[in-house]
Amino acid sequence: MNDAVPPTNGNQPIPPPPAMDPPPPEPPPPSPVDLSALAPPAAQTVELVEPSEPRTDLIIEAKGLTKHYGTLKALDNVDLEIPKGSIFGIIGPNGAGKSTAFLILATLLTPTAGWARVCGHSPVAEPLEVRRRMGYMPDVMGVYENLTVREYLEFHAATYHIERSEWPALVDGLLELVDLDVKSNTIVDDLSRGMKQRLSLARALVHDPELLILDEPASGLDPRARIELRELLLQLQSMGKSIVISSHILAELQQMCDAIGVIEAGQLLASGAPDRILAQLGVGRSVRVRFGDGTIEEFPIAGDDEQQALLRKLIVDDDRAVLEFTTVDKNLEDLFLQITQGIVQ
Ligand code: ADP
Ligand code: MG
Repeated sequence: MNDAVPPTNGNQPIPPPPAMDPPPPEPPPPSPVDLSALAPPAAQTVELVEPSEPRTDLIIEAKGLTKHYGTLKALDNVDLEIPKGSIFGIIGPNGAGKSTAFLILATLLTPTAGWARVCGHSPVAEPLEVRRRMGYMPDVMGVYENLTVREYLEFHAATYHIERSEWPALVDGLLELVDLDVKSNTIVDDLSRGMKQRLSLARALVHDPELLILDEPASGLDPRARIELRELLLQLQSMGKSIVISSHILAELQQMCDAIGVIEAGQLLASGAPDRILAQLGVGRSVRVRFGDGTIEEFPIAGDDEQQALLRKLIVDDDRAVLEFTTVDKNLEDLFLQITQGIVQ
């Protein structure tokens, strides 16, 4: 293991000046659905004393994570339990607090309250331990004037104190992994958006971290590049890495995430496997029926028993002839609309 030293913060996203932010809104209206089963425990019941022993089954554990900017609650009492080896998606609209949460987990921002354990260590008290084990991909790439792709990765290898003799093989391997081998001598600023995203991912992998924290890596990518990114992340998962990824491209996350957290206005509204959240919300499935008179109706159902009863009722009791029925599985988009309210702060 190399004696990794943190990269400079040159690639940190530039936060918007506080003066630009609109004032925080009134407290949000009550949620349209009962989220009590999904929501983390209420603030007053949360034990905020950091446990002395980290949980070995979790790659990230956080309790009551909070970040205030003046009166704005960018992150408000967020609990996370992300199992090792999983791909965990954080979904939320712009301004929800995703980047704030990631900056805290990546040791680049100090929380106002709460604690986190990332790869078994505290980002606040042991940032170097966390940085050794975690690779962070910010939502915007810094400017690297006149650096070639190879030089860019070598620069980051140097910041992690990787021996110079190891650079050629390391860089070749990373460029091959992210499919940029033909671009090794191209100036970074001349790469396409998708290529820059892949290079940024390669950079996050320079020190072979066990955890990747990726802030909207698919944003701005065309459909093919998104599919390639998804495949790459699944490949990294099969190599044993844990991945936390944020996005508002919901379909993308659904196809690769083992679990998701839905965040809005700094609060984690729900977290867990998408199917489980959908089932708990009672929006898991519906049956779409086409009748002989040309009408189409959709019936929400909770499970197999209810589906069976519905079909029996339609065929036996309903006068209309049933021509066709299909089950419709709700997806992340439905889930997202169901549990968020479009709050912007
Ligand atoms: P997301 O990544 O989900 O789009 P962010 O975490 O970037 O959201 O931002 C959450 C909220 O915190 C937003 O309202 C944003 O304007 C605000 N914010 C983020 N960084 C700062 C900062 N440095 N100073 C003041 N407000 C900030
Ligand atoms: Mg963001």
